[in-house]
Amino acid sequence: TEKRSKYKRILLKLSGEALMGEESFGIDSNVLNRMALEIGQLVGIGVQVGMVIGGGNLFRGAALNAAGLDRVTGDHMGMLATVMNALAMRDALERSNINTRVMSAIPMSGVVDHYDRRNAIRYLNQGDVVIFAAGTGNPFFTTDSAACLRGIEIDADVVLKATKVDGVYTADPVKDPTARRYLHLNYDEVLEQQLGVMDLTAICLTRDHNMPVRVFNMNKSGALANLVVGGSEGTLIDC
Ligand code: UDP
Repeated sequence: TEKRSKYKRILLKLSGEALMGEESFGIDSNVLNRMALEIGQLVGIGVQVGMVIGGGNLFRGAALNAAGLDRVTGDHMGMLATVMNALAMRDALERSNINTRVMSAIPMSGVVDHYDRRNAIRYLNQGDVVIFAAGTGNPFFTTDSAACLRGIEIDADVVLKATKVDGVYTADPVKDPTARRYLHLNYDEVLEQQLGVMDLTAICLTRDHNMPVRVFNMNKSGALANLVVGGSEGTLIDC
């Protein structure tokens, strides 16, 4: 039986740390290849895939700032880190024969395309994976906010936030054995209970524009493919 996607277009957010795998810095090519495989399954059933990748495996502005660098300079470095991750991801996807575009919020002529919403939508419609790099292009934001912003801009059906755990829990499941996973939360519950799913800017943006977010475990093989065909994975956040 032909598997049918519940979604026409998704925005997948991967943290930079997800690309690290077993390493303590940088990019693990095994992880890249595995993710390319999982993303290829979605493309194979006709899902349009936009992606945002973080930069935390390389640089974070706040951490550089704590070490004495100027915050805005640090954030610029963090955004450049996301471009490096996007290049690595594009490489892995194209090695799996998946056409991929990288569109950066900061122009980087000759390396990647400059972000243009209408072109992005055109590429998505023709089945290319589009990786939105350099976050929002502004310091003091995160790639979670960038993911929600781009998701709203391209009119994605859902923002899928990949994490290391199975969803949002009542407590830290690693420390507390009684912690339970929420199947569903609304935006206000996430805000009021400070559940730390994403930063407040990102949650407020999704709430204001009614963009559903699903938090799921990217380390669980097949979870991504399962959730796009309607399987119950992770935690859904909406109104
Ligand atoms: N960043 C930024 N503006 C943005 C997105 C990211 O300045 O719109 C910088 C910020 O310094 C951040 C770094 O890029 O720490 C890497 O992004 P993030 O921490 O969101 O990556 P992740 O935690 O998802 O790996």
